Amino acid sequence: MRQKFVVGNWKMHTTAAVAGRLTQAIADGLGSDTRVRVVLCPPFPYLALVGERLKGSRVALGAQNLYPAADGPFTGEVSPTMLLDLGCQYVILGHSERRHTLGETDAFIDQKVRAALAVGLDVILCVGETRDQRNANQTEAVLDRQLGQGLAGVTAGTLARLSIAYEPVWAIGNLSHHATPQQAQDAHAGIRRRFGLLFGEPAAQALVISYGGSVEPEDAAALLSRPGVDGALVGGASLHADPFLAIVRAAS
Ligand code: PEP
Repeated sequence: MRQKFVVGNWKMHTTAAVAGRLTQAIADGLGSDTRVRVVLCPPFPYLALVGERLKGSRVALGAQNLYPAADGPFTGEVSPTMLLDLGCQYVILGHSERRHTLGETDAFIDQKVRAALAVGLDVILCVGETRDQRNANQTEAVLDRQLGQGLAGVTAGTLARLSIAYEPVWAIGNLSHHATPQQAQDAHAGIRRRFGLLFGEPAAQALVISYGGSVEPEDAAALLSRPGVDGALVGGASLHADPFLAIVRAAS
């Protein structure tokens, strides 16, 4: 039985004051309910502040990115161990905004996945096709490539610290074009099939696959009740406590 998983990705939003208030409201709103695994991923500058507020709560801290080196001359970058120092348990890697706006390749994402797993971080690897790729019937091929190359460095011993977020690029930050529950279910089934070919059927059955792309409280229950849709990676709706808490409740 896979535990439901809800992750808030704040992207490059909030201020210190907003981050503190939002964290407090979410932690208080969840109380001691442990049915859903919940993670907050604030921007780097607020990780320490959010981590401090999350102490004693059942919400885990995650980062939105890392650089795949222990240390060195990488101006502006943040290493996996720095994230551990700040109390992070999770890291989002391969987000489409990094793939498409910042030009991250599958090979680079593979390096990041290896580096994160090597220090004990849990990885949320994002995969997803663009609108053009979907229209050209390339969805499965794109997901297969992103999984095959992005997970090239994953070994059997680290599989339990890995989850996948299916995030169709055309659905992110695009309320009028979010994926239907059926589209999400179909893509998740394809990801699980591919994962089974890569790592074996027991690992595929244990794999948590979340959907991301304009998830809102109104459609969360329909999405999260689909077979194989194990969680939600939430951007916009995680920037306010009430909608985020409603999505967590829908997952319960
Ligand atoms: C995301 O940040 O990964 C995301 C899915 O954003 P949104 O929910 O705003 O589409």
